Amino acid sequence: MVLEKYKQKRNFSSTPEPSGDLKVAAERAKKAKPDRLFFCVQKHLASHLHYDFRLEWKGVLLSWAVPKGPSLDPKTKRLAMHVEDHPIEYGTFEGVIPEGYGAGIVMLWDQGTWTPESEDVDTALKKGDLKFTLDGYKLKGSWVLVRTGGRWGSSSGGGDGRSWLLIKHRDDWAGEIDITEFAPKSVKSEGNFEDILAAENPDVWQSNRPAKGGDAGAMLATIIERAVRLKAGSDATPSVKGKAPAARASGRRVAPRSGARERDASGSGAPRAVREANKKPLTRTKARTRKP
Ligand code: MN
Repeated sequence: MVLEKYKQKRNFSSTPEPSGDLKVAAERAKKAKPDRLFFCVQKHLASHLHYDFRLEWKGVLLSWAVPKGPSLDPKTKRLAMHVEDHPIEYGTFEGVIPEGYGAGIVMLWDQGTWTPESEDVDTALKKGDLKFTLDGYKLKGSWVLVRTGGRWGSSSGGGDGRSWLLIKHRDDWAGEIDITEFAPKSVKSEGNFEDILAAENPDVWQSNRPAKGGDAGAMLATIIERAVRLKAGSDATPSVKGKAPAARASGRRVAPRSGARERDASGSGAPRAVREANKKPLTRTKARTRKP
């Protein structure tokens, strides 16, 4: 059944994630223009930081979890674990998952449209070799998702068939710049993880954090601390009793940094996407953000 696994994994009374309306999926499947399908990448700080890469297909979002995020360098192949289809409504989701599956912070890191380059998408998916063009804010040009073969790959080879590689093809939009570092922020709110958390409830994980140890745990601890300060500084009513006055004094909200524009990427090493992003006013991103 459509979205069955998605629904099984979640308790919709405790997660703000969309429940996945099957009618919406069916309607979307009928209406979709085959050359302008929705895609997005959600940066997800859960037990580990990863990037969820999603392509609209037949009314739902085919999804891969990419631990290191996409790379614009054709020489860098990024592992992409195929995960359960997500509802199309998930495409603009950004927020805090307080508990349960995927607990953590979700940021809408990129969104736009995709066009298949492979002639028959279903056949390409079955074969494990899907070529496509992306037109997002950060990711553009030609890409391929390839299922890894042999021992660890396709089910016939003994693996579970979930491992794919996300690879950029060589074109004007390829380059050596690390896009995840260069443009780390949301295309929806223009904020960081701490901004997203501060907009909701920074105290949500007082006892049981989604990530406790390792890099993700350390990152989350810092984000929680900053979010509490942001919230206290921007809120007239202290949200944390006893902590607010000090936090207000030291944690005054700093003007949002511009992400892509703050660093110099005018050199020839920067791919076209980044060079062009630097010429555009930041407000453009917000204005163009739309529902899938
Ligand atoms: Mn995820």
